[in-house]
Amino acid sequence: MPRGTTLLRMNQRPDTQQNQTWQQEVARSRLTPEQLCSQLQLPENLALSMVKGDQLFPIRAPQSYLNRIEPCNEQDPLLKQILPTEDEAVTVSGYSADPVGDHHATQTEGVLQKYHGRALLITTASCPIHCRYCFRRAYPYQDNRLSLQNSQAIEWIDADQSLHEVILSGGDPLMLSNDRLETLINRLGAISHLKTLRIHSRIPVVLPERIDHTLLNHLEHCRLNVVMVIHCNHPLEIDDTARAALSRLKPVVTALLNQSVLLKGINDSTAVLEQLSHTLFNAGVLPYYLHLLDRVNGSHHFEVEESMAHQFLQTLRSLLPGYLVPKLVREIAGEPCKSPRIE
Ligand SMILES: *Cc1c(COP(=O)(O)O)cnc(C)c1O
Ligand code: SF4
Repeated sequence: MPRGTTLLRMNQRPDTQQNQTWQQEVARSRLTPEQLCSQLQLPENLALSMVKGDQLFPIRAPQSYLNRIEPCNEQDPLLKQILPTEDEAVTVSGYSADPVGDHHATQTEGVLQKYHGRALLITTASCPIHCRYCFRRAYPYQDNRLSLQNSQAIEWIDADQSLHEVILSGGDPLMLSNDRLETLINRLGAISHLKTLRIHSRIPVVLPERIDHTLLNHLEHCRLNVVMVIHCNHPLEIDDTARAALSRLKPVVTALLNQSVLLKGINDSTAVLEQLSHTLFNAGVLPYYLHLLDRVNGSHHFEVEESMAHQFLQTLRSLLPGYLVPKLVREIAGEPCKSPRIE
């Protein structure tokens, strides 16, 4: 893969050029159905079936992620996470634009609070990858996103002494430039009742070159405990570039955790889930949540029956040490926590 070798060389260059590189990668991450098919040597007629889904939620994936997909394989578990299908246009009862009650949980522009002590910031609408099952694929970002010019969100957090943790989410918070992240981290660090800064990001896995020296430096010097929660669904997502990004992050964070979504045809087998835990642990990451699918419009073809999920978990508990078994949860609007699913 020729682009891969270029990236390796780029990684040795000074930071400014490296920044340019990840931002250029993001700029190139939008693909038409035809481009996706030709890159991965998929049948041309597959492109036609993608058009509707692509209009609803455009195809996006960085080259680094595409490099991990096996060409010619329509069943590749990484491909399936980014491949629009005709199923997305089907209306299914029980599915909606806001399955987890984000609208109701909005406190002020860009701030969601559902749970005691923790608030979540919608920092940006952008992601370098578009996961077809994303529960925020229909989120009204224009009206509900943090603005650094307007400090309403920071003031709201400052005024609530019961908060001890702020979660940066989005979109993907690591899409913000290093300068903007530095400003945000400093403002949050200045709020004395906060103890922890959590970052929910798929970037260490899908765009590892973004984990650059300046970012690591900002995280290392943050007054708050930093918890990084990555998002990885299949062991093949962790290639050498992702492993290297995770090993750069490891020394600057207090905890490095993973959340996954249980997805039909992608990771709905005990063997894959077992391997995922081992692969993550070898990369310095502990499993945190395994989410049952949030029922967002256009995602029903990814749903795994809950009874099936219970069976997987039971088997995993017999195969893995307790610390490698993720917590199976479902997010239910209005509940005081992510609801544990226990048989
Ligand atoms: C998922 C979520 C959290 C984090 O929940 P934890 O159980 O602490 O991981 C916090 N706030 C919101 C709004 C969430 O959706
Ligand atoms: S990276 Fe996260 S927020 Fe972005 S599309 Fe994927 S699931 Fe959604």
